[in-house]
Amino acid sequence: MLRYVESYLFNTVTTVTTLKDGKMNNSNIQKTIIKLRKQLQQANYAYHVLNESIMEDSVYDQLYRKLYTLEQENPNFSNSNSVTQRVGEKPALHFTSVKHNITLYSLENAFNLDELEAWKSRCQKYLGLQTNESIEYVAELKIDGSAISLTYKNGLLVRGLTRGDGVTGEDITQNIRTIFSIPLRLNLDNPPDILNINGEVFLPFDEFTRINEQKKKEGKILFANPRNAAAGTLRQLDSKIVSKRRLQFFAYSLYADNLNIENQWNSLKFLQKCGFLVNPYYRLCKSLETVTNYFNEWKSAKKHLPYMTDGIVVKINSYSLQHKLGFTQRFPRWAIALKYPAEEVSTIIIDIIFNTGRTGAVTPMAVMKPVLLGGTVVRKATLHNIERISQLGICIGDTVVVRKAGEIIPEVVRVLKTLRPFKIKTFQIPERCTRCNHILTSLSNEVVIRCINNSCPAILKGTLVHWASRDALDICGLGEKIIDLLISTNLVNSISDLYYLDFQKVSSLERMGKKSAENLIKSIERSKDKSWTQILYGLGIHHIGYTTAMLLTENFSSVKHLSKASHDSLMTIKGIGKEAAQSIVDWFLIEENGKLINKLNNIGFVLEDKKSGLDESKLSKHQFLNMTFVITGSLNTLKRNEAKDLIKELGGKVVNSVTKKTNYIIVGNNPGSKLSEGAKLNIIQLNEAEFLKILKDTNIKNDKIHKNQEYIK
Ligand code: NAD
Repeated sequence: MLRYVESYLFNTVTTVTTLKDGKMNNSNIQKTIIKLRKQLQQANYAYHVLNESIMEDSVYDQLYRKLYTLEQENPNFSNSNSVTQRVGEKPALHFTSVKHNITLYSLENAFNLDELEAWKSRCQKYLGLQTNESIEYVAELKIDGSAISLTYKNGLLVRGLTRGDGVTGEDITQNIRTIFSIPLRLNLDNPPDILNINGEVFLPFDEFTRINEQKKKEGKILFANPRNAAAGTLRQLDSKIVSKRRLQFFAYSLYADNLNIENQWNSLKFLQKCGFLVNPYYRLCKSLETVTNYFNEWKSAKKHLPYMTDGIVVKINSYSLQHKLGFTQRFPRWAIALKYPAEEVSTIIIDIIFNTGRTGAVTPMAVMKPVLLGGTVVRKATLHNIERISQLGICIGDTVVVRKAGEIIPEVVRVLKTLRPFKIKTFQIPERCTRCNHILTSLSNEVVIRCINNSCPAILKGTLVHWASRDALDICGLGEKIIDLLISTNLVNSISDLYYLDFQKVSSLERMGKKSAENLIKSIERSKDKSWTQILYGLGIHHIGYTTAMLLTENFSSVKHLSKASHDSLMTIKGIGKEAAQSIVDWFLIEENGKLINKLNNIGFVLEDKKSGLDESKLSKHQFLNMTFVITGSLNTLKRNEAKDLIKELGGKVVNSVTKKTNYIIVGNNPGSKLSEGAKLNIIQLNEAEFLKILKDTNIKNDKIHKNQEYIK
């Protein structure tokens, strides 16, 4: 559904021309306001009537804020029909419209703690309180569903309405009756004549998934999210369908005469007594600080809830204070929704740059108009690679949707192409490295382009940052800024140069204090004691992450041993893939890398497993540990039993049938059906020569192999 956003958002604020001082003139302000109203109106209709989202909620909120601010700053352009003056939408025609007994309001939004604080100050001012006079609040979770109002007459449910435009709602009583968590009769001995209840109907995640799976099977359009699914289900014409979808309801407010309830806290307790499900996580907060703690707790704990929440709702507890504060046209002054930081937002691309990383891979990055995302201001986002750029079809000046990938690095998800300004700036994919001007290469099996100049300062910087990182050599104090200085002053041109730095050189660096210089020298010195795994990981070999480095050092107790490993022998290690194996072999083939290893040895690094030393015989014995082999066909030089014995000697076993657990099939002449069975299961095949070569690489001392040297070659 979100893809329709583009046609709705045509010609947005981003394309409006501004005066030289950055301010809009009156005519542009008016045009912008009109465009924004139209866009938001269309989004509102889709959201509230069609139960569809044509833009992300966060994008809606951003545009809404923009419109609201423009209207506040330019009251001469205000209009009572603006979306900022209205709640929701008018009821749809296929339901009976019914006037609410009590108007249903929306909530004012706060998007950060400063805005929450500002709301508190406004309330204090309105109430004539001093800034040090405290107010009691009730904090509740903001359930992301659909608001409804219920009417109970003498304890019996008589009516259920959607919120509609707040004044009039749609009569959905039949559908409401199918929701188990809504009592048809109140659990009270003396119920009030009329009791009005407001609350949120929602769909838990598992039910949402079940409904969408069912829809998928039936080839129907899926619901975009649990909120749309809840709103869509509530407004189903057939209540049999509603009864099959397990909607749930949390009650959060009540209105009745003569109930003698004085605050929100007691009203929630009363609702529970009546038999309603009330979200159990509400909290009485004596200060805004407690509210802030509540918000911070739920900001991360929300992911454990089985239903969707999009923030918290903060309500002033006392009814008498609520009464004094009253309502604006759209919301109560005594309550506010504090929304969780947006995970997807829109912003504008200012530039596209190309960064060379430590492996030489050149990553395109979007430089963006700063935007608040997931609680932090982001200015750059990754575009991953050239292929991704062409998939996105991105240009400088485009409005894009950005999201936090894996919670850390922001990425550009989509381009809102219809928001493209008339004049766009294209950009060139570089042919040369932006740091060293070396020609870039694109390897045949990769989508990335690379700088292959070993002395490229960008690669050197990345290499040093990685070497100093916590999981690698953990050199405290060797951050990016110091590394930049060490490179630009020519003090460091390779990893090994770090170990020839002395106090005089380091303290000569710009803004480097005596103490910091001493500490840095000490932590560089200490790094020489790091383990073989940390050193191997620190070398930053392509495809060798920490876990892979651990696997390698478990199987190869020294750099000497690892440097001689063949691709095939590396591949015998469970967890080492083709790319990693090839990468290791290639790395040791480069002369410069051999020199680096020698230098590290001379500096005093122990590039071997300190516990086992160079116990290669122990290592050989474990080469095939827990591995299963199948042999098919007759071998040229080895007898079956000889092959079996060799595998056994290295810790493996030979079985007769091929299963998913088989690691290798050794294929001789005239192989049987095991060969095709293995092929179906993608089991690695070795011919006899390849098998013997692995054995040779493990240094196993066996006459059979030595006799067969010629054959192996
Ligand atoms: P809202 O959803 O931000 O907040 C008001 C609603 O919160 C109430 O009506 C109530 O239903 C609900 N709520 C949940 N828990 C509550 C609790 N404990 N106490 C009180 N109320 C509680 O406001 P809205 O007017 O319903 O909708 C506006 C929002 O909807 C926008 O901010 C935007 O995020 C979204 N929207 C999105 C689009 C789109 O195209 N994506 C379009 C329109 C609106």
